[in-house]
Amino acid sequence: MRIVTSAAAMQRLALRWRREGKRVGFVPTMGYLHDGHLSLMSRTRRLVGKPGIVVASIYVNPTQFAPTEDLSAYPRDLERDKALCRKAGVDVLFFPSDAEMYPGRETGGYSTYVIEEKLSQSMEGGSRPTHFRGVTTVVAKLFNLVLPEVAVFGAKDWQQAAILRRMVRDLNFPLKLMVAPTLREKDGLAMSSRNKYLTVEQRPQATILWRALQLARQVVVSSHTPIYTDLLGKEIAALIATQPAARLDYVEFFDGETLQPATAVTRGAHMALAVFIGKKRLIDNAVLK
Ligand code: AMP
Repeated sequence: MRIVTSAAAMQRLALRWRREGKRVGFVPTMGYLHDGHLSLMSRTRRLVGKPGIVVASIYVNPTQFAPTEDLSAYPRDLERDKALCRKAGVDVLFFPSDAEMYPGRETGGYSTYVIEEKLSQSMEGGSRPTHFRGVTTVVAKLFNLVLPEVAVFGAKDWQQAAILRRMVRDLNFPLKLMVAPTLREKDGLAMSSRNKYLTVEQRPQATILWRALQLARQVVVSSHTPIYTDLLGKEIAALIATQPAARLDYVEFFDGETLQPATAVTRGAHMALAVFIGKKRLIDNAVLK
């Protein structure tokens, strides 16, 4: 596995692959890898085949964190991540520094951002107003450096995937964006780098996100009449409140494709929620029907 830290070297390599007609698949991450990330990498390998190239990136992107958020505390373990990428069959690991990705940003010398204006307003965008501007900007930059024909993202970040798909369409990126299923722990908790920070008391309570999704599914499946989302939302809030460490940030019901809010659950309806467990904020989502 080759490790590339320079943006220019990454792009030179990508241009060479393109001249050679190689298929390139890409998995962007912030590192501290878990099986969810690794499943995206093996899926990418299946998509591009063996002579194809699988590129993974590890970059904790500062522009998607608000000043009050956990940028400096975000977990990192490069040596372990390298070993996991090697095992997952990654060909090139792109691991740039902030100076490579945003030259001059600290001194005002970086000033171009990509903004999606519609799908970014609700849910994660409501709670974290500058978050998606950072995500679309860094992913657009990474696409320009890696030049993949396919990029694979996780359903765990459903809104992110929808926004990036819109960006790819709106800005004519010549690639296909694929979404892979959420990998979960045995008790249903969605795998996440941030789970590491849950204390022994908090960890069992964190399953409340998954239990909330299950409850919503049950209600929907067992009803013969349409389920109104304001009532369902109240039931979910009551369930979350049973956990002493949990505080509901939002629960939303929406169309999985357009992210349009839904007043009643119909086919394709999705539920997403964000819950603070102690100081850590966790998110999850699933289709309900
Ligand atoms: P992150 O490192 O958290 O930015 O995530 C990198 C990619 O992995 C994103 O496309 C995420 O949606 C995806 N991902 C994160 N957690 C999971 C999971 N539990 N299962 C599948 N994909 C995931």
